[in-house]
Parts: sequence; C-alpha cells; structure tokens
Amino acid sequence: MEIIKNVKGTHDIFAEENDAYDYVESLMKSISELYAFNGVRPPVLEYNSVFVRGVGESSDIVRKEMYTFPDKGGRDLTLRPEFTAGIMRLVVQNKLYATSELPIKLYYCGPVFRYERPQLGRYRQFNQFGVESIGNNAPMNDVEVIVLAYTILSSLGLEGVTLKINTLGDESSRDNYRNALKKYFSSHIGNMCEDCKSRFELNPLRILDCKVPEDRPIIDHAPKIGDYISIESKQRFDTILEALEVLQIPYEIDEGLVRGLDYYSETVFEFHYKSKKGADYGAIGAGGHYGKLMQELGGPELPGVGFSFGIERIVSVLKDDELLEDIKKKVDVYIMPLGEEANLYAQEIAVILRNGGGYKTDICFDKTKLGNMFKRATNKNAKFAVIVGEEEINTDSVIIKDLAKQEQITVSIDELVNKLDELMDEGDEE
Ligand code: AMP
Repeated sequence: MEIIKNVKGTHDIFAEENDAYDYVESLMKSISELYAFNGVRPPVLEYNSVFVRGVGESSDIVRKEMYTFPDKGGRDLTLRPEFTAGIMRLVVQNKLYATSELPIKLYYCGPVFRYERPQLGRYRQFNQFGVESIGNNAPMNDVEVIVLAYTILSSLGLEGVTLKINTLGDESSRDNYRNALKKYFSSHIGNMCEDCKSRFELNPLRILDCKVPEDRPIIDHAPKIGDYISIESKQRFDTILEALEVLQIPYEIDEGLVRGLDYYSETVFEFHYKSKKGADYGAIGAGGHYGKLMQELGGPELPGVGFSFGIERIVSVLKDDELLEDIKKKVDVYIMPLGEEANLYAQEIAVILRNGGGYKTDICFDKTKLGNMFKRATNKNAKFAVIVGEEEINTDSVIIKDLAKQEQITVSIDELVNKLDELMDEGDEE
C-alpha cells in the first residue's frame, strides 16, 4: 500500500533534531523566567475574528495566509497564525489586567500555521517562542524585551546578530505617513504588482514589504517615515536607542522596516543572522510595540510590546554553525541483564536508579551478546553500565562499570545509589 506522507509545508521533528528544539525552547524559557516573565498557553484554535480584528485586515496573514474553516457547528475558526492576538484575547477575557501588576509579562511557545509558499526557512506549520509585556507604556519596557531577545540569541552562541530597529511613530505620525505614501504611490500604482494594488487600497504602508523586484525601485524612492514622526515619538525612540547603547546592544536603524502586522506602533524591530555557511533563512525573530490591539479585542486601552522567534530558523542556524554539538543527550546508566531471568531484576534496579537516584536509565531487553550491549551503551553516550546476571540476583548486588575508565566494581543494591553518586562526583571533578 502507498505510504501516507506529511502535509506540504509541515515537517517531522525527531531524534537529534528534537533534542535541539528541546534545548532551544528550554533555554528561551529559563532566560525569560530570569526576566520575570511567566508562561501562558492559549489554544491553537481561535475564532477567526481574533485575528481579523487583532492582526488586521490589511496584513498578508489575514488576507492570504490563514487556515480558516467552519467547524461542524458552523463556527468560523482559525489555526493561530501568530500568538500575540490570541494572548491579548486571553488577557482581556480573563481580566488579567485587573488582577496582575502591570506590566503583565508572559512568554509562550508552540506551533503556528500560515498558508505560505514553502521554501528555505519557511514552513506552513512552524514553532514560535515569544514574550509579551502588557500594560505599561514606558519605553524601558521595549528596551527590556529587546535586551531579553538579544540575550537569548547570545546565550545560544549566536554572535554578530543584527538588530534592525525602526519607529512607526504614534497614530498621528502614521496617519500623516500613510497619506504621504498614498499621494506618492497614486502615480505609480498602475505599474505595480496586483498585491500592491490591493495594499494601496487597504493600507499603503504594507506596500513597503513588497518583495517583487520590479516594484523595488519605486518603493526605494517612497517617502521615509522618519520625516513624519511626531516629536513625542522621536523622543521615545531616542530614549530606547540611548538605552540600547548603554546596555551595549548593537543596532541598525532600518527606515524601511514596517512589519507585516497592522497592530504595531512606535518601536518595531527584527533580528537577522547569516549562518557561517552563508544561508539566509530570513529574520530569526521580530517584534514591536502595539498601542490599540487590546482595544480592538474589546479590552481596555493598554499598550504592549513583544517579540517572537522562529524556532525552525534558529535551529537551522545553530546546526549550520555547529553550535549543537554539546547538547547531545546522554544516558547516565545502561542496564545489561544477562539472561531472561535477569530482566525483572533489571527492572527493579532501574526503579532504584530512576526513582531513588534520579539517574537517567535505560535497559537492554534484547537477547544479545554482552559485546553488543556495550556498543549500544556507547551509542547512547552512557556513562555507566550496570550488569546483572544470576550471581548478582542471588547476592542482591550489581556490577557497575565506568565506561570511560573501563573499571568495574560489585556493590550491593543498598549501596548502589550512594556508590553511583560518588563515582559521578569523581567523574565531574576530573
Ligand atoms: P512574525 O510573526 O511574522 O513577526 O514572525 C516571527 C518570526 O517567526 C520570524 O522572525 C521568523 O523567524 C518566524 N517565521 C515567520 N514565518 C515563518 C514561516 N513561514 N516558517 C518558519 N518561520 C517563520
């Protein structure tokens, strides 16, 4: 029978790659906890309106990329194409702003879905990790979020990450800029791509994101946002840039950076990194400040700032740069039962090691020669082998073999955990 393959744009994650995802995600979580962010898990399924109202009708995501379908009860549902709008829905619905100190600091991790053309670094189901800091408008919240993102990337070993940053200004700055763009593009739009034509109607700011090469020269000559920023927004942006300088976070101002989601205002930023192999997977993370998102979802007027990393892209650059070599998972103990009757005894020993000692333990249940068992122990990067046969069963003991030193001793079951603790300590000191 023909085998069934995975859906286009999705990918299976297993073996060493799964270890890499675990490593990256747990590092991101633990550093975010140091910055006093707490985990949150919104559902994958939301009503369509969360994203139409949240992300915005003029965004590519809502216009073209959402997995939206009616469920059997006729509800219009969407598989989340991003986290921020769903988190804002969660905060509003559960009135977190009334019970928590502001800002509410949340992190999240999980799959998102976008119907895009699959290519290098671009999937239809991919994973994001990100944070949101909600409810306090001080520019230092933007700084804290950027510093957190930068620290995570440095802790993963990525050196020379480019932080591109820009300001979209406040509402009046953006209105003025939008009008200026409308005026400029009105004489060019007839010669631009179909996508730009509808962007022109919905939100001319989106035209700046166009990737069609023939449109680029027109876009490159468009008015720049810097000329339309209000004095307050300019001051806010300067405060943020000054703080980044003091905190030694290198940045590049990119006036073309507008981000594809409608909810952004004031600060927007992206992280770029070219792997040592030269592969460019696109932005590895991005984010910004948002003013009106919570109101769009029926909540109070509370601003926020956040970022989102693409885990697939980060794992790809780490792999290319050989920064995942040290994360190979190791088994502490590999138990080798000699003969059928030693299998149950091996289970008892495993309970002692796992529950009593906290040792990551695996057992070989295959009827195979001792030599093969040692090969498997090596493949699992085991530190110790515990060998049990008839003799050991009869004397309530086990043989512990240090696989690095190739030395072995016999110990009673009662002494097993203590002895192993000692041997592990010795190994760590050397
Ligand atoms: P965005 O929500 O569009 O700002 O995306 C945040 C991050 O998610 C980006 O910087 C990418 O690292 C990642 N990302 C976005 N789209 C995709 C995709 N189709 N496949 C893989 N990663 C993606």
